[in-house]
Amino acid sequence: MNIVVLRETQAGEARVALMPESVKKLVGLKASVLLESGAGSGAARSDDEYTAAGATVSPDRTALLQTADVLATVNRPPLEVLAELRRGAVVIGFLRPLDEPAALAPALTQGLTTFAMELVPRITRAQSMDALSSMATVSGYKAVIIAGERLPRMFPMLMTAAGTVPPAKVLVLGAGVAGLQAIATARRLGAVVEAYDVRAAAGEQVQSLGANFLKVDLGGLKTEDAGGYAVELSEEALERGRQLIEEHARTSDVVITTAQVPGRRAPLLLTEAAVQGMKSGSVIVDLAGATGGNCALSKPDQAVEINGVLIIAPLNLPASVPVHASQLYSRNITAFLAPLIKDGALHIDMNDDVVGPSCVTHDGHWVNSRVAAAQEKRD
Ligand code: NAD
Repeated sequence: MNIVVLRETQAGEARVALMPESVKKLVGLKASVLLESGAGSGAARSDDEYTAAGATVSPDRTALLQTADVLATVNRPPLEVLAELRRGAVVIGFLRPLDEPAALAPALTQGLTTFAMELVPRITRAQSMDALSSMATVSGYKAVIIAGERLPRMFPMLMTAAGTVPPAKVLVLGAGVAGLQAIATARRLGAVVEAYDVRAAAGEQVQSLGANFLKVDLGGLKTEDAGGYAVELSEEALERGRQLIEEHARTSDVVITTAQVPGRRAPLLLTEAAVQGMKSGSVIVDLAGATGGNCALSKPDQAVEINGVLIIAPLNLPASVPVHASQLYSRNITAFLAPLIKDGALHIDMNDDVVGPSCVTHDGHWVNSRVAAAQEKRD
């Protein structure tokens, strides 16, 4: 079977779906890996490194696509790429099936089998395939580095001959995977960190990283579903959180927002009034820009300044750390694919509790009911 990797074409994308270490592993399973020349260059991997790992490298995209049994990608491939694939070919990557299901309709007409990394269930067996967590880890780290770079102060407390420099105060909103990594990174840099999340379970994790957990009395309201994800809160419950956030943002140098509710617009946590109340020179990094933003004033992929407060809402932070983001992603993809390869051939078992739920389209049908419903809603 042929696994094909192309150069990603989305603007600003530097990641690659498979790194040479994963190619070696897949070739060890008797799969062939074919790579478009230069596909790894954004992630500092040369064609020679891929060849040494056992891949075949070619500049001919069309020829590669026509031999592909599996196309491994980071982002959803453009239409013209899908159109070149053979009927029955498999596509695996971040396909954005829930927010843009219509863009995958061509996969139906072409009989492609598509697997979305966003749909991989978060069960114990699939932890090594959890690409959302991998990318959230990178984003949480990089958000703090960006804030540190733009902040006109230092993070750590320093005692110098010229006097004491107080530590920066960082407020993290949403303490899931990205938020916890942001907390850990800010703490390593010596900041004093506070965090807020609607899930009570996040409190212990926040505290174990040496940060202070801000508690809001939500009157026993249910804040998480059976899968451990936050649920959409009522406006009244959201407002209680906003008041506490506004109060703590006033004294913060950095606010990093990471709050998300799967399948919904990101909750609005930092209001215009809260931003107006912040100190000049402080920095907000909004990681929820792709789903509408946690800050009322953030603009996707732009930096805006309001009363001396800088608000940044980067949309693709993992692409700005392409080596490690690709390494983690490549391992996630390989962990998904490896169990499907038997004696060098692809065996897809839709009854498998990871494979079935991750599948978006197969044999001309929508497989995932959430995606099918999302598609119908938009029709
Ligand atoms: P996410 O990206 O969906 O959300 C980020 C955070 O925002 C979450 O912690 C959420 O509680 C928080 N949030 C949502 N609404 C909020 C609001 N109004 N105010 C404040 N915070 C709000 O979540 P995620 O980081 O992908 O993960 C969330 C949960 O899933 C965590 O419990 C995590 O431990 C768990 N998880 C489990 C696995 C696994 O078992 N394999 C893997 C990854 C994550």
